[in-house]
Amino acid sequence: MIRFHISDDILTSYAAGSLDEASSLLVASHLTLCPHCRSRATGADMLGGYLLDSLEETAVSPTMLADVLLHAETQPSSHLSSQGASQSSHPLLPAPLGEYVGGDVSQLRWKRLAPKVHQVAIRTDDARSTARLLRFQSGMTVPSHGHNGRELTLVLSGSLCDRDITLHRGDVAETDEQTEHQPFAGSGDDCICLAVTDAPLRFKSIFARILQPFFGI
Ligand SMILES: [Zn+2]
Repeated sequence: MIRFHISDDILTSYAAGSLDEASSLLVASHLTLCPHCRSRATGADMLGGYLLDSLEETAVSPTMLADVLLHAETQPSSHLSSQGASQSSHPLLPAPLGEYVGGDVSQLRWKRLAPKVHQVAIRTDDARSTARLLRFQSGMTVPSHGHNGRELTLVLSGSLCDRDITLHRGDVAETDEQTEHQPFAGSGDDCICLAVTDAPLRFKSIFARILQPFFGI
């Protein structure tokens, strides 16, 4: 069961078509997994339509929400392990995300970032934010860091422990400039998550800061 959802501000921006592309991809992916937020988005979509009527020019993605609601009809809601996903007819990646990266997790070219950490950078046309898939082996701890902007994380497999909470498939974490944290992958399956940032992270350790430019985080 999903416990951590998209915030009202982000969902309303998404429904209005004004959210950046990478964040929209994360929201769309969450919506395929979360009936609760699909219901909220339908309401927000109506509100967004009202707001758009009162604006002369706004960048809009008119079909994304409709596409998500359509895909959600066929999206499995049960938990899938990353290992099982490669052998299952049910993809681990939500449909909008799978379409962006061109396949499911087992078909992607994962690039090693550090011991026990791999990533797939996701190309978007919107320079306001960046999206990446991250895969952490169980027990891997992300170096302590802060943020220069917003970070959205959607867990897709395994679990991610972050500041006294544990996120599972479908859960979303949102952090801002005030947040300093050191998340780590829980026990069991690899933790695979979609991370969207609109500014570089601020790592505390010298080692992480030296490596940061090479990985574009
Ligand atoms: Zn939700």
